[in-house]
Amino acid sequence: MQRNSTFLWLLVAFLLLLPTSLGRVLLDVAGGLMLVSLLIPLLLTGLGWIGWKVLQSKMITCQVCGSNLVSNTLSCPVCGAKISNDLGQDSSNSAPASSATIDVKAEDVGLNE
Ligand SMILES: [Zn+2]
Repeated sequence: MQRNSTFLWLLVAFLLLLPTSLGRVLLDVAGGLMLVSLLIPLLLTGLGWIGWKVLQSKMITCQVCGSNLVSNTLSCPVCGAKISNDLGQDSSNSAPASSATIDVKAEDVGLNE
């Protein structure tokens, strides 16, 4: 058992060291897997961030108790106060989504040498 696994690792190392097509395929597969495993968390983080921002843009604050609500509710589920529609329209008119800016910060990930 132990001997077999050692032989297997030697074979893999041998294939990787030799410039054969199989070694290149193995390297490509390993590189692709590494790239995917790095990209998936980044992608999920981006999607989560966008979802959070969309959710945040749809939230309003109750004037009476200060709890966060979805903007299309008519009354506060916490304290029962009526949510005035005028306030929602005013806030949406003063800051339309098309004029909103999103600050994107460029970060140096340290790939320079
Ligand atoms: Zn409330």
